[in-house]
Amino acid sequence: MERQSVESAETQVLDFGLVRLVDFMGGDAAVVQSARVSFGKGITDDERDRKLVFFLLANGHETPFEHSVFKFHIKCPIFVARQWFRHRMASYNEISGRYTEMKEELCLPERLRTQKARNYQYDELDADLNDELKQKISDHYDASFRLYRELLEKGVAKEQSRIVLPLSLYTQFYWTINSRSLMNFVKLRIEAHAQYEIRQYAEVINEIFREKMPWTHAAFQKYVISGEKWCE
Ligand SMILES: Cc1cc2nc3c(=O)[nH]c(=O)nc-3n(C[C@H](O)[C@H](O)[C@H](O)COP(=O)(O)OP(=O)(O)OC[C@H]3O[C@@H](n4cnc5c(N)ncnc54)[C@H](O)[C@@H]3O)c2cc1C
Repeated sequence: MERQSVESAETQVLDFGLVRLVDFMGGDAAVVQSARVSFGKGITDDERDRKLVFFLLANGHETPFEHSVFKFHIKCPIFVARQWFRHRMASYNEISGRYTEMKEELCLPERLRTQKARNYQYDELDADLNDELKQKISDHYDASFRLYRELLEKGVAKEQSRIVLPLSLYTQFYWTINSRSLMNFVKLRIEAHAQYEIRQYAEVINEIFREKMPWTHAAFQKYVISGEKWCE
C-alpha cells in the first residue's frame, strides 16, 4: 500500500507535550480556487489572488477557508485537552485509557501562579514557596501512580484503575481541522484570557498555520487579530 504523509518534525510543548503536523491539504491557492468557482474561474496571478484572500476574510466570506485542512498529532495534559475538545468543528481520535496502560507523564509547571481577583491576571509565586509546593505536587503524583500500578497488579481493569490519576496526566490525540475553524481556535486560545498552558500550544499551531498559508495568516492577523477594517 502506498503511504502518503507530510509528517513534519514535532515541536515540544510544556514538559512532555508535543505538536506535530501529520498531514496538510490545500493552502492559500485552494482558498482562491474555491472562492472563484462562483464565477467559473480559478487561480489568476499572485497579486489578485492575494487580494482576494484578504477581501474574503475581511468581509466574512469564510467558507472558502474550509478547503484547507490540517491534521495534527497533539500530546497535552488532560486539563488542556478538556479545553481543546470544546472546539467542536474538528475531528478527534484520542488514546484510550481503557485499552492502554497510562504512561507516568504528568505536567509539573515550572512556576506556580497566584490566584488574583481577575482570573486571567497572575503573578509568580514566591520562589521558596514555589519549590516547596512543587515538591508536594510531585510526591502526590508519585503516590497516585503507585496506587494506579497497585490496582493494575491486583487485577483491577485499566478503565477503573485510571480513576486515581490526576488531570495533569498527558493524553494524545489526532486533530483534523480546516483553516476556518483553526483560525477560530487560534483567535480564542492565543489571547491573554486563555490559560497559559493551552496558549503555548496555540502559539505553535499559529506558527504552522503561518508557514502553510502565509496569505491567509497575514489577512487573519490584520482583520481578525488586529481588528482592522477593509478599505479599497
Ligand atoms: C478564555 C476562555 C474561557 C472559557 N471558559 C469557559 C467556561 O468557563 N465554561 C465553558 O463551558 N466553556 C468555556 N470556554 C469554551 C467556549 O465557550 C467555547 O466552547 C470554545 O471556545 C469553543 O469555541 P467555539 O464554540 O467557537 O468553537 P467550535 O465548537 O469549534 O465552533 C466553531 C463555530 O461553529 C459555530 N457553532 C458550533 N456549534 C454550534 C452550535 N451548537 N450552535 C450554533 N453555532 C455553533 C459557532 O459559530 C462557533 O463559533 C472558554 C473559552 C475560552 C477561550
